[in-house]
Amino acid sequence: MADGALPAGDALAEVLADVRRYLGWHRDVAGEELHASMDGALGAIAAAVSVEVTVEGSSTPPVVVEYVEASTETGAEPVRPQASPARPPLLRIEAAEPRTVQAARTGLRAPAAAPGPALALSSDETPRLDEVRRTLGDCKRCKLCSGRKNLVFGVGNPKARLVFVGEGPGAEEDNQGIPFVGAAGQLLTKMIAAMGYNRDEVYICNVVKCRPPGNRNPEPDEIEACQPFLEAQLHAIRPSVIIALGKFAAQTLLRTNTPITRLRGQWREYVGIPLMPTFHPAYLLRNPAEKKPAWTDLQAVMARFPKAGS
Ligand code: URA
Repeated sequence: MADGALPAGDALAEVLADVRRYLGWHRDVAGEELHASMDGALGAIAAAVSVEVTVEGSSTPPVVVEYVEASTETGAEPVRPQASPARPPLLRIEAAEPRTVQAARTGLRAPAAAPGPALALSSDETPRLDEVRRTLGDCKRCKLCSGRKNLVFGVGNPKARLVFVGEGPGAEEDNQGIPFVGAAGQLLTKMIAAMGYNRDEVYICNVVKCRPPGNRNPEPDEIEACQPFLEAQLHAIRPSVIIALGKFAAQTLLRTNTPITRLRGQWREYVGIPLMPTFHPAYLLRNPAEKKPAWTDLQAVMARFPKAGS
């Protein structure tokens, strides 16, 4: 038997366990409320990579938080979390003249007409999730604020190893203020369970925090206004792996317009964090045949990041 190969009985048991997990979430969810169409052009997203911040309790002038891509070699063997060295810092704080910042970094700014405070970080440079939420406040940084019942920030374990990023709240999420609680959310919950987790072990959030009217696609200016907060959430949590659900999550985090059909199933990185793009659960509800490739994507995540103790 080759090194590392399982005895036939164990291998069969693994396959059966996989099939059982797959079937567990494959059943169609009775879906009254399907999320907005994932089709349509995303449009341009500003490729800015930094935000201006103030350091709480400090008298120093505003500085720039730069999202530094950890250097990785394309095609390199995946690094297992146990074996990996300490990850390089995700944030680099540089002293900068506000004037320079203004000139160079405009993409992530809130519209001047509806300003909100800059992200305020504690002195250890990495934002805490509650600080990010506090800074977001009663957000009026884009037009989605006018139609929302509740801002839907995110839910789950602030120290999660696994983060799911969706598109934006639907009607039920808007009612409850919790992401993925409608029909697509029920399918996502099954996908999470099939991976051996429950919802409060992982973290779930969206690209935009407020419901687009009628579940339409989020527009580029709305994504742009919310993006610093999504990125700050990810920096605060520093998960081992991100699953980007659908084109808006994948394209926003990867700063690309490549279609999700080409992105899905391919390991990518978001600031050094492995990221797996896959189909959005709402899309899977409409296209059940695509659940198979989506399950393959989740299995790839499980293979590279086995749940501790499993
Ligand atoms: N679809 C999303 O992308 N996010 C939600 O929270 C619900 C449905």
